[in-house]
Amino acid sequence: MNARGGIDLGGTKIQAVVVDERARLLGQARRPTPQDGGPPGVAREIAETLHEAATDAGMAMGDLAGIGVGSPGAIDAAAGTVEHARNLPDWEAPFPLASTLSEAVEAPVYLDNDVHVAVAGEFHLGAGKPYSSLLGVWWGTGVGGGIILDGKPWHGRGAAGEIGHTVVKLGGAHCPCGRRGCLEAYAGRAAMEVKARELAAEGEKTKLFEIMEKRDRTRLQSGVWARALEHGDHMAVRLIDRAIAALGAGIASAVNLLDVEAIVIGGGLGTRLGEPYVKRIEEAMQPHIFVSERPPAVFPAALGDLGGAIGATLLVPKPPRSRTASAASP
Ligand SMILES: [Zn+2]
Repeated sequence: MNARGGIDLGGTKIQAVVVDERARLLGQARRPTPQDGGPPGVAREIAETLHEAATDAGMAMGDLAGIGVGSPGAIDAAAGTVEHARNLPDWEAPFPLASTLSEAVEAPVYLDNDVHVAVAGEFHLGAGKPYSSLLGVWWGTGVGGGIILDGKPWHGRGAAGEIGHTVVKLGGAHCPCGRRGCLEAYAGRAAMEVKARELAAEGEKTKLFEIMEKRDRTRLQSGVWARALEHGDHMAVRLIDRAIAALGAGIASAVNLLDVEAIVIGGGLGTRLGEPYVKRIEEAMQPHIFVSERPPAVFPAALGDLGGAIGATLLVPKPPRSRTASAASP
């Protein structure tokens, strides 16, 4: 069997999976991302999480043909380095994650951007399977994206897919990237939290922070937003409505440019809020679609919480099929 490992490296958790040659799940493990120890500390914890996933699959690390890692930050896949991973601890300078991890797990390690591997996972194994062109929109702390054209990922010069920084309002709200009016300034969970804190400081009532504290959180995680929406909390409803309007405009503009067949919505908020909210994003896109009689299909990501890690396993090259071997067998 040709088992492969996959890692989804996030700011709060490390998710590891072990899959077989057809990407079927054999084992998995999840650990919190260490907040001290810098990149070497994170690399050690990735190796431990993978070890746990291999044990869960009834295997040793040595049985894995290779490991794919989806990481935040700027990835140099050829050099095997990650830099500017802002939601990971002390991770600004390029760190040789592939070689460090490869030594610890004794298998080759392949890196790519976390959103790109998740979108590739949806394209090959999830909601995107029937299509040859796809735009993935990952609605979470930020708003990331991945583009697949003619069956192949489009990386541009390395920075393609940044749909979160397309402009939906000239001179609009401040974006965490330092610019104004970006989609992420309205729909990113980090930007929405800044806005919610501002409104609360001005005296507007909301249950958001009460729910956050009850859950022992210090941030407005996706689950906090979902709960506040269930309660009909006015501020949560208003900020999510604003996010959906911005997502509709941003995604429709991308569709007008690329004319992809399908849109898949994932990410922390996208996955947590799910189908009804994906439907609302689809409706918000409608007025902005230029060829309105032929809108793209819009789906929630189908692979769920493990999608990023399963998508990362696709980075491991498949071994060439040996035709002579099968021809020689009786
Ligand atoms: Zn921006």
